[in-house]
Amino acid sequence: MTGQGMTRFAIRGRLLWFDADPETDARARRFIEDGALLVENGRIAAVGEAADVLAGATGLRIVDHRPHLVTPGFIDPHIHVPQTQVVASYGTQLLDWLNRYTFVEEQRFADPEHCARNARFFLDELIRNGTTTALAYGSVHPQSVEAYFVEAEKRGARMLGGKAMMDRNAPEALRDTAERGYRETKDLIQRWHGRGRIGCAITPRFAITSTEAQLEACGALAAEHPDCHVQTHMNENRSEIETVLSLFPDAKDYLAVYERFGLVSDNTVLGHCIHMSESQWARMGAANAVPAFCPTSNLFLGSGLFDRRAAREAGLRVALATDIGGGTSYSMLATAAEAYKVLQMNGQGLSPLAALYAMTRGNAVALGLDDRIGSFFVGAECDAVALDSRATPAMARRMERAGTLEEEVFALIMLGDDRAVVETYVMGEASKSALA
Ligand SMILES: [Zn+2]
Repeated sequence: MTGQGMTRFAIRGRLLWFDADPETDARARRFIEDGALLVENGRIAAVGEAADVLAGATGLRIVDHRPHLVTPGFIDPHIHVPQTQVVASYGTQLLDWLNRYTFVEEQRFADPEHCARNARFFLDELIRNGTTTALAYGSVHPQSVEAYFVEAEKRGARMLGGKAMMDRNAPEALRDTAERGYRETKDLIQRWHGRGRIGCAITPRFAITSTEAQLEACGALAAEHPDCHVQTHMNENRSEIETVLSLFPDAKDYLAVYERFGLVSDNTVLGHCIHMSESQWARMGAANAVPAFCPTSNLFLGSGLFDRRAAREAGLRVALATDIGGGTSYSMLATAAEAYKVLQMNGQGLSPLAALYAMTRGNAVALGLDDRIGSFFVGAECDAVALDSRATPAMARRMERAGTLEEEVFALIMLGDDRAVVETYVMGEASKSALA
């Protein structure tokens, strides 16, 4: 499945993508009812009206997805590779959930065979859901990330991730040390970062499970590798925040812990950011760091309601993510549906086009990858999904009364999931239909 031999073909469908943020630029939305992407060696060589793109292309292989929508592939900027068998664990909030379920499950990733089997499932499931890029956490074991990168490379997928670093407040079997966490992360970076479409992230799990020495080592890694993302969690749950402030009594708030160690930059993705002060929003804005809004996780763990308006008023790029396995769906469609509901509870709302933007170009911008993915333009890597707005009887029934593109997209988000994903293209390769 590496794309060799497939050098040139076209994808025809109802093309929908964004050149900019539809909430700030009314012309950002691009829609072509009968459009085509010309794909050459995995990249978009032309995009436009099918009549123009396909003119004179005799003998060209054309995959016709009409009447389905074709959008850029979905991007999931916060997800945990080792939590595929933790998802849907009953009855707890964050700290109990970690101790009772997650820290037990993640110990199984000491076994490279388990890592390999899990990584295969993980990549399959992302592709099944139309997700073509993720920024993911491994377990503390570097082999969990190694297996994930091996699977991503096999499929030619643009995937990012890092091994979780934890040197306290976790079971012995899940603890590294400041020195070992540094060395194992450095080793992954040296072997994998920038190899094909793979990217490495510096990944302290969160302030509770890292000593000052470990956060200092993370800061050193971030300084040595400024092109690597930093990902961690922040301000998710009130007990978590209390614990952090007791562990770091000199810090004025949670963000200050990460700031002190040089971990807050425009390449930093901070999961959750629910219980925020004005000062923390302002400082994140000044650093141009990215909050990851994970609505199904925030609802499932009872963590709270994300304040998207405050984040945007601070000038932030807001990422939208599943956070499997605190989150409950791999589908970015379902995730956007829950985002809409969370924002309804906050009196904010989320327009259908803003939601679709968020899971495509918006997340690409949040990850600094919009020069390569998240949109349709000449030279872009051809990660795309074909979406069936009538995938289920309930969706087909609803669509009979959908008069506009916005209504269609909203119904697709509210009612859709992996069943609506007809095909997933990874670097121009039809990858969902190739799953076993
Ligand atoms: Zn998470």
